[in-house]
Amino acid sequence: MTTKKIVLRDDEMPTQWYNVGPDIPNGLLPPLDPETKQPMGPEKLGAIFPMSLLEQEMSQERFIDIPEEVLDVLKIWRPSPMVRARALEKALGTKSKIYFKNEGVSPVGSHKPNSAVPQAYYNAKEGIKRLATETGAGQWGSALSFATQKFGLDCKVYMVKISFDQKPYRKSMMHTFGASIVASPSVDTNIGRQIREQYPDTAGSLGIAISEAIEDAASRDDTNYALGSVLNHVVLHQSIIGLEAKKQMAIAGDYPDVIVGCCGGGSNFAGLACPYVPDYLEGKKIRFVGVEPASCPSLTGGTLAYDFGDVAQTTPLLNMYTLGHDFIPPGIHAGGLRYHGMSPIVSAMVREKIVDPVKVHQLECFEAGVLFARTEGIIPAPETCHAIRGAIIEATREPEKPQTILFNFSGHGLIDMASYDKYFSGDLHDYEYPQEAIAASMAKLPKI
Ligand SMILES: *Cc1c(COP(=O)(O)O)cnc(C)c1O
Repeated sequence: MTTKKIVLRDDEMPTQWYNVGPDIPNGLLPPLDPETKQPMGPEKLGAIFPMSLLEQEMSQERFIDIPEEVLDVLKIWRPSPMVRARALEKALGTKSKIYFKNEGVSPVGSHKPNSAVPQAYYNAKEGIKRLATETGAGQWGSALSFATQKFGLDCKVYMVKISFDQKPYRKSMMHTFGASIVASPSVDTNIGRQIREQYPDTAGSLGIAISEAIEDAASRDDTNYALGSVLNHVVLHQSIIGLEAKKQMAIAGDYPDVIVGCCGGGSNFAGLACPYVPDYLEGKKIRFVGVEPASCPSLTGGTLAYDFGDVAQTTPLLNMYTLGHDFIPPGIHAGGLRYHGMSPIVSAMVREKIVDPVKVHQLECFEAGVLFARTEGIIPAPETCHAIRGAIIEATREPEKPQTILFNFSGHGLIDMASYDKYFSGDLHDYEYPQEAIAASMAKLPKI
């Protein structure tokens, strides 16, 4: 019998998350307080985050228990299937094996609920009544809308204006789960009103929406803020992907030579990759490939530095690969990959040369996504098309040296069909690497 789909039973689901922090050679640099430039303790961040998540953010424990209540909700769709992409392999004519971990089976169609659920749980447990957040393409907003209603919290989503106008079904999904949504910049916050006055025609950006959500959370006692990527606790929650994958690979009797994921803030890639890092450090030969868009190339075109996570300069300074906190990337369709920074964990793994970053263009990604849809039968999200393109490059690089490739299928694209329509009608273009815009933005990095 040939292996196609490898599934785990509910009781084989991991009951602890893996924290890669203590295992990263030379460690992670701490977040800094932008005023004092000193490491930022949990006291100040306690205004917008619950203590249990701040403890996870700074934890030196390698394994952390997943609460029973969180496991119960994750079991709605987890463990997620692993699939051998035999039809794709055949279409490529490659001797390499391609496996993917399908995170598209979640209630909102991506990996994002893996962190939204524990974030909502810990906030509810600490007495918070309402969460404020931002969303770009709408994936994170949908995930948090779903998770908050599971734990009886209200949810306010600041949605980047261009997506608000272009992605009506993401809005419908968030409404269905009970959240309230405004287009960002909105009139509900000071920073939103300021930016609308200054730039009346702005399409918004993730950096602006983050500033609005943080202001909302900081100004109300009953409200906290939730971030869907970048931070260490998000990467921790996503490690469930790689922990399951290791069990599934063992069932398949295989081991990956190459692990591939697309990188926006870095959480889905790190979630698959990190549980393999201890094996790598013990001498296993694994190549970790992080794929980013050429139009927003934090890892391949940015600098490793301390920078803000948002435009209004309200976040702590994070040590990460960045294009500058006010860099606004060209309007590619992979909204989830349009962020100026990169998670400190993925950044440190690039610094230590554990992860190889590569950049790819939009059109080659859609081409890969269409091939995947026609062979494997699942239509990928535009973000996920980047991972597929990365896996195809690896599978076809050296025909005489077949490899075992494992990539993260971060989400399906059933609510992104307008992007596919544009691709088929020839209205999508590759954007040149915006070197001048990046240089201008980099000049404004905070001085440490
Ligand atoms: C949000 C998103 C991404 C990018 O975010 P990461 O934090 O880099 O994982 C990738 N794929 C999908 C489907 C997404 O929704």
